[in-house]
Amino acid sequence: MAAAVNMRTGDAGQAVRARARMVERLRAQGIRDERVLGAMQSVPRHMFVDEGLAYSAYDDTPLPIGFQQTISQPFIVARMIELLRAGRELGRTLEVGAGCGYQAAVLSQLATEVYAVERIRPLLDRARANLRPLRLPNVRLKLADGNLGLPEAAPFDSIIVAAAAIGLPPALKTQLAPGGRLIVPVGGADQRLLLLERQGNVFRESWHEAVRFVPLLAGIE
Ligand code: SAH
Repeated sequence: MAAAVNMRTGDAGQAVRARARMVERLRAQGIRDERVLGAMQSVPRHMFVDEGLAYSAYDDTPLPIGFQQTISQPFIVARMIELLRAGRELGRTLEVGAGCGYQAAVLSQLATEVYAVERIRPLLDRARANLRPLRLPNVRLKLADGNLGLPEAAPFDSIIVAAAAIGLPPALKTQLAPGGRLIVPVGGADQRLLLLERQGNVFRESWHEAVRFVPLLAGIE
């Protein structure tokens, strides 16, 4: 995809066109939520990966972001947020696993507030640097172990976990507001997306796509 090589420094129109092609592909892959597609169109994904990878930023592939971590492929980002939204506003949103900050930027287009936590300090610094030029006033980043949620900002209307849990961390469940929804990849070698919906004090579970995420780890580094 030689045409996209200069995307980071050069022609902004080129990046916009690359995103439009990505959004068309997401539609073909079955993403229906126009607000999600609009958010994917508006966030410059190439600004979140190393310059040398900018040419593949809009391909349907996960990409390395350093520290043995990866940014999910666009389809998975879109699909998880579509499931999380289910046509309603995201409201106050917690993201566990901020990584390079890309998904937090997509969420910022759909949520009132985004609290994104990350356990690897240099990765959090990178997310901060990536997000700074976008000036998104509703995104807050914090170094924290997402297994514990973020009690000082709870409850959340939406919680999205970007790393695979063996079981759902209990703190995340208790920090979900009534009417709230939570999406998390669950499993080890075989993972599936679990969607949890809280109605009053009843939690309804549904299982979705098979996925492959890096593991949700404990503690901070
Ligand atoms: N959403 C990110 C990609 C996430 S990759 C993006 O858009 O770039 C998964 C991230 O989860 C990694 O950065 C990893 O360090 C982080 N992570 C794993 N376990 C965690 C935990 N317990 N608390 C916070 N972050 C965690």
